[in-house]
Amino acid sequence: MTDARVFAETLKNCELRLKSALERGTPYLARFSGGFENNIDIVFNRIFSAFPPEDLSSELKSVRALFQGFDKLSDSEKIKVLRLSADAISSIASRFQDDTSTKPSSKSGPGGLDDTVDAIKGVGFSLSSLLAKKGVHTVRDALFYFPLRYEDRRAIKGISSAAPNSWQTVAGRVESAERTRRGPGARFRVVLENDGARLDLVWFHFDEKYLKSKYRKGKLVIVSGDIGVDTRRGTLQILHPATDRIEVLDKEDEARNSPHIDRIVPVYPLTEGLGQRRLRGIMKNIAERSSLADGLLPAGCAPGLVPLGEALAEMHFPEKTDRCPDFSRSAWEAGGRDRDLFAPRTVAFFEFFLFQLAMGIGKNRRDSPGGISFKPEGDLSRRFAEGLPFKLTDAQKEAFSRIKRRMESSRPMNILLQGDVGSGKTVVALLAMMKALDSGYQAALMAPTQILAEQHARFISQHTDALGLETVLLKGGEAGSRLESVEKGDARLVVGTHALIQDRVKFKRLGLAVVDEQHKFGVAQREKLRGKGVSPDILVMTATPIPRSLAMTVYGDLEVVTIDRLPCGRKRTKTVVLGSSSQDRRKMIEVMEMEIKAGRQCYVVCPLIDSNPENGESGNGEIARVSETASTLRKELPGVRISILHGRMAPDEKESAMDCFVGGDTGILVSTTVVEVGIDVPNATLIVIENADRFGLSQLHQLRGRVGRGSHESLCILVKSAEISAEGTQRLESLIRNSDGFSIAETDLAMRGPGELLGTKQSGMPDFRFADLIMDAGVLAEARKSAVAFLEDDPELENYPELRERALGIANVFFRS
Ligand code: ADP
Ligand code: MG
Repeated sequence: MTDARVFAETLKNCELRLKSALERGTPYLARFSGGFENNIDIVFNRIFSAFPPEDLSSELKSVRALFQGFDKLSDSEKIKVLRLSADAISSIASRFQDDTSTKPSSKSGPGGLDDTVDAIKGVGFSLSSLLAKKGVHTVRDALFYFPLRYEDRRAIKGISSAAPNSWQTVAGRVESAERTRRGPGARFRVVLENDGARLDLVWFHFDEKYLKSKYRKGKLVIVSGDIGVDTRRGTLQILHPATDRIEVLDKEDEARNSPHIDRIVPVYPLTEGLGQRRLRGIMKNIAERSSLADGLLPAGCAPGLVPLGEALAEMHFPEKTDRCPDFSRSAWEAGGRDRDLFAPRTVAFFEFFLFQLAMGIGKNRRDSPGGISFKPEGDLSRRFAEGLPFKLTDAQKEAFSRIKRRMESSRPMNILLQGDVGSGKTVVALLAMMKALDSGYQAALMAPTQILAEQHARFISQHTDALGLETVLLKGGEAGSRLESVEKGDARLVVGTHALIQDRVKFKRLGLAVVDEQHKFGVAQREKLRGKGVSPDILVMTATPIPRSLAMTVYGDLEVVTIDRLPCGRKRTKTVVLGSSSQDRRKMIEVMEMEIKAGRQCYVVCPLIDSNPENGESGNGEIARVSETASTLRKELPGVRISILHGRMAPDEKESAMDCFVGGDTGILVSTTVVEVGIDVPNATLIVIENADRFGLSQLHQLRGRVGRGSHESLCILVKSAEISAEGTQRLESLIRNSDGFSIAETDLAMRGPGELLGTKQSGMPDFRFADLIMDAGVLAEARKSAVAFLEDDPELENYPELRERALGIANVFFRS
C-alpha cells in the first residue's frame, strides 16, 4: 500500500530540488560530488520506497529514465531535462494531492512545538516552574522528556496473588489508614484490601497528617515493593514503600482512557513538588499534540522509521507493543532488544540525525573559503626537518603531506591527526607549526597537562633555538611580559596548557592552532583556541583511538588523518600480568633491578596518592599509593634513585621531578596516572601498573605506551589486585595479546561507555535525551549517512525549514561561525 505521507513529501522534495537546480543553472549541478544523476537517483529511490500508486508509478519511472547519462549531457540538454522532469513531477504531485486532500492534515489544531508548556491544559504557573526545573519549557521539551521506565498496568495483580518474599506490583483499596501505638514504637499502617485479601503498608517514620489525607478509605493504591510477612499478625506487608513506587488513584482515574491505569504506564523522573500522577496526566495531554513534531523528521530518511510524532506518542504511552518495554542499559546488556522497536529507533535516529546535520552545517560554514593559504616552501621548515635526529617514517611523511596540502589551500584546515601511542605525532605537528611560521604567522600548541606542555616546550626549544626562534611556555598566572611578547608577535611559537585560552592571552597573528591529546579537552576549548586567530588552521591530535561510532559524534566535523605505523626499529612491548603474592613481587623487583643495572629507567603507576582520610581513601589498604609504594621500593632497591610525581605537588616540584627523570638521574618514577598522556622518555623500558584492574583498558594501553619508545626491549607489568574476579583477570590478560589501540578502545567503549573512555572533561559530547552511542550505534551510522546525503543535495536545508532551524541552533552552540 502507498505510504501517502512519505510519498507526498518525497515528491515535494524532488520537485523543489529540480526547481532549485533550474533556478541556479548548470554550475550548481557540478557541486554534486557523485554526479547529479546519482543524486536524483537517491531521491527516486525514496519515492519508490513509499510504494506509489500503480498509475503514477509508471509515469515516475519514465521521468527517472530522463536522467540516464545526465552528467554527460551538454548544458542546454541538461536544462531541458530538468524542465521536463520538474513539470512532470509537479503534475504528478498535484494529482496525488487531490487524492489525499480530503484527509485531515496532521497539523490541524492550534499551537506549535515552541509554545510554552503553560499553553497545555492543566499546566498553570506553579507547575510550569516545576517543569522548568527539569529543563522543560516548551511543548517540544516536554515531548522529549522521556519516562524512566514503564509499568504494565494492563492486568494489575490483586493482593490475593501476591507471594511473600518477592518483589511485586499489586493493587488494592484503602480499608483503613491510621497510626498504631504512640510514642517511640509508633507506626502508621495502611490496610489495603482486594478480593478479601489483605496487605499492609507500614511506616516507622511518617507525617501522620499527610499520610491520613493521602490514603483515604476507598482509594485505589498501586504499589511495588518487597512483600514480607508480619509474623505476629500473619498478614502480608510492605515496609516503608518507596514513594516513587507507590501511586494512589482517584475514582476518576478509573474512567476509560485514563493515563494511569489499564495500560502500559510511563513513570517519569520527578522533582520535588511534582507528583507522578500529575505529571503523567499532563504528559498525556502533551503526547496528544505529538503530531506537531512530524515535520521535524523528513519521511523516508531511513528504513524502519515512523513519523516522529507517532514515535514520540508511543514513547510516552506505548500502545503498539505487547511487551512492557525496557530501554535501559541493563536490559540491553542482558540481551533485550526493545530499543529496536520502531518508536525508540525513530527517536534515537532523529536525535543523531539532527546532531549530524548540525555538525555538517558547522563544517560547511567553517570550511568555506577565507582561510589562510600558507606558502608552499620555507626556510624554517626545511632547516627544522634537516635537524631532526631521525628520518620520518612513510606514515609520518604521508600524514604531513596531507596536512601541508590543506594548509596551502584557502579553506581553513580542520584535521584530526590520529595515531597509536608512540607513532610520532608530535614531530608531524611541529613540521606544520614551522610551516605556519614560514608564512609569517604564529603557531600555538595546547596540551592537557603542565608536564606535557613542558615536555613539548623542551623538545621544541631543542630543535628551534638554533633557528633563532623564541618559544614561550604559558602555564597560567604568568607575568605580563610573556603575554606581551605573544601579543606583539615576538613569540612565534607558543606552548601551554588551558592557560592558552584565557581571555587575557592575545595573539598578534595566530595561523595554526594545535591541540594535543584532544580527547582530554572538549570541542568548546578547541573552538576557543580557534577564536584566538582569524580563521586559523586547526590540527588536533589524539592517541586514544576513538571507536568509529564515537568519532562520528565527537569528531564528526574533522577530517581524519591517521599515522598507521610505528617508527621502525620499535619492538613491541611485552606485557605480563602478575599477582600480589610475595613470589610475584620478588620477580618484579628482580626485573626492575635488571633494567636499572642496564642503565634503563622504570615507571611505577599507582591508583592513589597517599592515605588521605579526607579523601575517603583511608579504608582501602589494598590499593597502592604513590608515597607508600615509593618508600617500600626504596627499602627493596637501596641505592636506586626513586622520585615521585602526582597532581597534588606544586608545579615546580613536578617540573623538577620530571626533569630528573628525563635527564636520567632518577631510576624509578613512582606516580599516579599523570604520566598517562604524552610523556616521552625513550630510555624508560619498564612500566609497572599497580592495581591494574582499577583502570580502563584504553588507559592501560596509554600507560603502556610510555615505554617501548626507544630501540630497547620494553616490558609492561600489570599487577592485579588481590580481590580481582576471574573476569577482571581475563580483561587484563587480553592486553597481553592485543597491542592495537583501536580494538582495545572498541572493547572499552562497549564495556564502560563513552564518558569513561573520553574522560569527564569531554564537553564536546552532545546531550542526547534518549539516543545512546553504544546501544544505538547502528542507528547512529544510518543517521550519519542520511545527514550527509541530505546536506549534499541541500546544504542549507532550504527545503526543510523546521529542521534547518533546529540544526542551526545546535550548530551555533558547537561551532563558531
Ligand atoms: P605520540 O604519537 O604518542 O605523541 P611522540 O610524538 O611522542 O608519539 O613520539 C614518540 C617517540 O618517537 C618520540 O621519542 C619521538 O622523538 C620518536 N620519533 C618520532 N618520529 C620518529 C621517527 N620517524 N623515527 C624514530 N623515532 C621517532
Ligand atoms: Mg603525543
